Amino acid sequence: MAETVRPLIAGNWKMNGTSAELPELKRIADGAEGTRSNSPYDALICVPATLVDRAVRTVAGSPLAIGGQDCHGAENGAHTGDISAAMLVDAGAASVIVGHSERRADHGETDIEVMGKALAAHAQGLTAIVCVGETRQEREDGVAMDVVDTQLAGSLPKDAAPENTVVAYEPVWAIGTGLTPSLHDIEAMHDHMREQLRERFGAAGTRIRLLYGGSVKPANAEEIFAISSVDGALIGGASLKSGDFLAICAAMPAR
Ligand code: PEP
Repeated sequence: MAETVRPLIAGNWKMNGTSAELPELKRIADGAEGTRSNSPYDALICVPATLVDRAVRTVAGSPLAIGGQDCHGAENGAHTGDISAAMLVDAGAASVIVGHSERRADHGETDIEVMGKALAAHAQGLTAIVCVGETRQEREDGVAMDVVDTQLAGSLPKDAAPENTVVAYEPVWAIGTGLTPSLHDIEAMHDHMREQLRERFGAAGTRIRLLYGGSVKPANAEEIFAISSVDGALIGGASLKSGDFLAICAAMPAR
């Protein structure tokens, strides 16, 4: 039986957002602020690296945290165009997404590289949000759980703990498509992943937050959050509009 953990509702702005969108971020921070005293969740927006510093200053004093979307596995060095975990910390980030399927696909990131990024994040005190998920073909072939098991085993470092790691289950075919797995399939995958985490990390594995990601919208958030093994969401498109993101936040029940 998984322990109750404090939910996390995280947005991923992907390659969207310049200073023109900071007022929208401020509206998210102000909306989240309305629930400050009794908020049943943590809220986070992962912005493009160029915005982290200004985003942190924009939301200062609110309960909204700011994260990055990727970091390099190395501490520093000759990696033109890359961002280190220390740079994200320096800019004020609290978390970083690693192993998002778009980076695995666009940049050929492997599990071992994703693990290196998570380790680099941990070494700098960042929470690593480690993404895993199967493709449409893998689900149709009936190997979704095997694929996710392999990604989990290969991407999560030994030092993963509830304090430094969040896992996001994001079926690749559900990202940005408006499609979602059935509630039964989400629950089955989350229960399975929870068991994998418990087997590998013991009691700590029951407290690592397990998010669902893939076309979460105001219209489906409530039913997804009603699944007890879903500890929150990673949200792409719907995190760009304060109204949508805050409506999703409002759908999170007290646990
Ligand atoms: C994502 O980018 O992680 C994501 C889940 O996107 P969307 O919500 O747009 O499907």
